[in-house]
Amino acid sequence: MTINPNKCVACGNCTYVCPMGAIYIDPQIKRATINRNECVECYACYNGLSQEHLNPTMVRTMRKVFQALRLRFDPEPDVCPTASFEPDELTWPRVVRRAFSDPRVPHESTGVEGRGTEEVKTNDVSGRVKVGEVGFTIEFGRPGVGVWFRDIQTACRMLAAADVHFEKKNPITSLMSDVATGTLREDILGEKVMSAIVEIKVPVERTEEIIRLVWDIEKRVDTVVTLGVGTRCDDTGDETVVAPILEKLGYTLHRAKTNTGLGRIMNSAESDRQTVGASR
Ligand code: SF4
Ligand code: SF4
Repeated sequence: MTINPNKCVACGNCTYVCPMGAIYIDPQIKRATINRNECVECYACYNGLSQEHLNPTMVRTMRKVFQALRLRFDPEPDVCPTASFEPDELTWPRVVRRAFSDPRVPHESTGVEGRGTEEVKTNDVSGRVKVGEVGFTIEFGRPGVGVWFRDIQTACRMLAAADVHFEKKNPITSLMSDVATGTLREDILGEKVMSAIVEIKVPVERTEEIIRLVWDIEKRVDTVVTLGVGTRCDDTGDETVVAPILEKLGYTLHRAKTNTGLGRIMNSAESDRQTVGASR
């Protein structure tokens, strides 16, 4: 994303809408400027502000006149008065920033909009997490924090060393040059995104080990980590295997949502009717 300095009138409205704090008013040129290193190409500035097409010279003059009279002339807070934002033609590898940061852009590898896959939400149909297994969604980054791919690689390598199964349809897995070692493509390591989700699954007996490993990973990456745990209900619709492990580890559980699905079951032999998700 670029701000056209010939159009910008330095009203400052856009500095409040950037979830990464990447826009600032440069006092030297008196224009809003984007820190390209921190910008994750989420398009919140371009799409979140109404773009008006006022004449920049006229707006600057009015602002100066009003200032001299000790008054203010400010546009409405949700408006860029001079339509100064100009999206760049994104090329590889920078384009991955947008794929993981703009929730309205479907990811090429999954067709799902946003950073991850459908996770366990469609488990009734996809049967990704089978009886006796537990699926983890490990999310790195958040608005305001973001995450570098080099940190995601650190995490993926630690997970790979623990011999976990990476979800094939997950966008991060598709960016690995070597899934066995959790190594990502070299050319994306210097890219930053709003957040990204790594999906793995392991036998249910390894639940505590993997959670403790994620706690360890959290200490080694320069971002925040959110852990989601998905597992299968028993025939009565309860879950009594993973829940006690999570409670022992200090998580407070609430039956927040149960996903049931309509569709052709792809794992009919082992299908359960329900899947539960728990997260912190
Ligand atoms: S909202 Fe538009 S005119 Fe105002 S500071 Fe941002 S880019 Fe410049
Ligand atoms: S594209 Fe997103 S991260 Fe980049 S400047 Fe705009 S709002 Fe900020």
